[in-house]
Amino acid sequence: MAATTVGTSQVTILRQHLIDPEICIRCNTCEETCPVNAISHDSRNYVVDASKCGFCYACISPCPTGAIDNWRHVRADHAYALADQLLWDTLPAQIAMAEIPIVGADDTAATLPDDVERIAAASTSGQGGIAPPPWSAAHPYVNLYSIQKPALATVSGNFRLTAEDASSDIRHIVLDFGNASLPVLEGQTIGILAPGLDAHGRPHHVRLYSVASPRDGERPRYNNLSLTVKRVTTDHEGAQVLGVASNFLCDLKKGDQVHVVGPYGTSFLMPNHPGSNLLMICTGTGSAPMRAMTERRRRKSAPKEDGKLMLFFGARTPAELPYFGPLTRLPKEFIDINLAFSRVPEQPRQYVQDLIRAKAEAVVNLLRDENTYLYLCGLKGMEKGVDEAFSDICSRHGLDWKSLQAELLQQGRYHVETY
Ligand code: NAP
Repeated sequence: MAATTVGTSQVTILRQHLIDPEICIRCNTCEETCPVNAISHDSRNYVVDASKCGFCYACISPCPTGAIDNWRHVRADHAYALADQLLWDTLPAQIAMAEIPIVGADDTAATLPDDVERIAAASTSGQGGIAPPPWSAAHPYVNLYSIQKPALATVSGNFRLTAEDASSDIRHIVLDFGNASLPVLEGQTIGILAPGLDAHGRPHHVRLYSVASPRDGERPRYNNLSLTVKRVTTDHEGAQVLGVASNFLCDLKKGDQVHVVGPYGTSFLMPNHPGSNLLMICTGTGSAPMRAMTERRRRKSAPKEDGKLMLFFGARTPAELPYFGPLTRLPKEFIDINLAFSRVPEQPRQYVQDLIRAKAEAVVNLLRDENTYLYLCGLKGMEKGVDEAFSDICSRHGLDWKSLQAELLQQGRYHVETY
């Protein structure tokens, strides 16, 4: 428990973890992430059980809106109950420490518990919390549209990116926002509200998608953006399931309308200063933010914003690789592209981490450059493999990956978004 003892009364002050109901988009990410099942929800709110929360902070970083990162000092025996939290429309204000009623106390000058400082440090250091954005990133707007007041977008295109006979149906979906203002930066996400109710009669959870177009839109001056969406037909174990939002999106026709919330994301953003290098590693639809960043640089919207681009991109086969055609036509001087295919008949299985090892020297040269920013997006499983590959190539070239990684995180130069 993040708690401290106040004065001579032996009253314990708890720093209680709470979720802001005004900002929360009910995407269920926190509940899925919490290792001790401290987070639950009803049809109205997501709530944290003070008696279970172990202050591991695992839920803090994945939350798209920041609603999860709220804390109040309370007397431990007066912690906000789940029943109270479920009824809130807004978070209660923090009671001043001196005003926290402490029966029989003769000294109420409390000091903050150690955990408070650790939480603050985590949010700015990137270790266990949210990594800071690159120092030169543009200002991101977040939470402009909520579930109560979503933006209405019109579909202006829905194109299949994978070959007709490919096993996965991945689509490039273009949404037009008309007169609504929804500024997004490369690396940010938006939430899609699929219509209808789930098996429990509740609205579906918000589903998040990374924007695949740069900040000036899929088509500049058209107030639109694009998403990369794979039609989900099986779960991680291979059992048949129909992904609610992905099937809704993949079935949309030109002219259909979609409710959108967001945008979200204040960390996974690209640097905008001259000479900043991008080292991008992705699998499958995790390529969406990489496409956005690459397009930003390719269009030369900001001519001085240059630097080296290196991409490691994994897919089952060339036919399954979103944006394969356009990618392979990009000039080699503009971007160093490394494609890893895992299921090409009669060829050895290749993953992105294998290619990182094969390109060790070029990767290490980038890692040595303090203007290099790393982005990892896609399957959760690749995180470990990529980490091991970095560790190997670093040790072979006289670098210590663990300390370098900590430095990169702290400096907002290492960003991970995996599912
Ligand atoms: P996928 O087709 O299942 O896999 C892509 C490639 O990654 C395949 O070649 C696969 O190989 C390989 N792979 C599997 N395990 C790996 C590992 N441990 N290390 C390295 N490579 C590995 O990918 P997908 O279904 O498109 O999934 C992409 C992920 O990105 C999803 O989890 C999605 O939620 C996430 N994402 C999507 C967006 C978006 O905006 N759409 C944004 C961010 C993240 P084999 O399967 O042949 O082993």
